[in-house]
Amino acid sequence: MIRKPSAAELLTAAELYASLGWQLVPLHELLANGRCSCGRECGTSAGKHPRPSKWQEVATSNPVTIQHWWSRTPTANVGMKTGSGSGLVAIDIDPPHGEGALLALSDGVLPPTLTMTTGKGRRLLYAIPDSLEIEPQTVPFKDDDGHESIRLQGGNSGAQCVLPPSWHYSGRRYEWVAGHGPSEIEAAPMPGWVIAIMCPDPEPRHADPVRTNNDGDSPFAQFNARGDWWTEILAPAGAKQCGRGGQSVEYATRPGKKGGVSASIGHYRARDGSPALHVFSGNWPHLDGGRTYDKSGAYARIFHRGDFSAAGKDLLARGYGTPKARAGSGRNPVEDRVVRLERAVRLLAQELTQLRAERNGQQA
Ligand SMILES: [Zn+2]
Repeated sequence: MIRKPSAAELLTAAELYASLGWQLVPLHELLANGRCSCGRECGTSAGKHPRPSKWQEVATSNPVTIQHWWSRTPTANVGMKTGSGSGLVAIDIDPPHGEGALLALSDGVLPPTLTMTTGKGRRLLYAIPDSLEIEPQTVPFKDDDGHESIRLQGGNSGAQCVLPPSWHYSGRRYEWVAGHGPSEIEAAPMPGWVIAIMCPDPEPRHADPVRTNNDGDSPFAQFNARGDWWTEILAPAGAKQCGRGGQSVEYATRPGKKGGVSASIGHYRARDGSPALHVFSGNWPHLDGGRTYDKSGAYARIFHRGDFSAAGKDLLARGYGTPKARAGSGRNPVEDRVVRLERAVRLLAQELTQLRAERNGQQA
């Protein structure tokens, strides 16, 4: 049986963390009867939630406040507000699938950093580089069975993480892994794959639209609406799924690479609202790093080297698009002109809708 941390141990730890500039907050704790000190039924949150109600505002590294808090509630667990205030993000890895998912996401790029054991798994703390002007977002990854296997936790949601030697409801302590505590090493800067996942561009961008006819009947529009990213584009191109984020975002490893995050699907949207592919870095055959593609754009570039005319014919043969949408059947010049003008009106109406939406966005 592991001994519950003493008041002196908790205060000493809190003072060390505060000296490093981490923004702390006193948490509730587990009582001898196994219940949370707040008196409610807290389940797996028992002993893990902050005592102050406005904890995001009061979290601090001020040593006087820290001493005051832990003199009032000497056995309070120690919590930290992650994000730019503390300069740290936390990556929680939980069994049974967390370690495998971590390997797939990181491709093994895991520089030694502050590491602790938690109730079930482990937690890595990485430093937010000063040059990073975007507040990292919290991104949960779920297993196929719906359990959260990895959580990349950042600041803009005011995320809080429990620190050693706090006492976990499972009866274990949070403990620094030997050689990986704050008196032994510094937090390593966030690796690129962590930045790619936690810090998407501040201005969400639309996908690069295809440059040809994209009205509702065209093969491009129908492929954007009905096509499937994985079975029709990414898997045939040799890409692999490497993770799933919150809110129906998926991550892909580019063709020819063993693991690691090369692109997101669904974080950005095409103009018609369908999920778009955002490529994080170069080396993806036929696609450019930092750009966002709708399905038709990616399809034309990957399978037809950017020949949109060939891609359109290919998609038409695959059942996307309506042949009659192609003007110039040659039967009747008046009929042809009607078809062309009708299409032009549809396209202008689409563009007007888009521009109005942009104008309203600017006014808001
Ligand atoms: Zn509670």
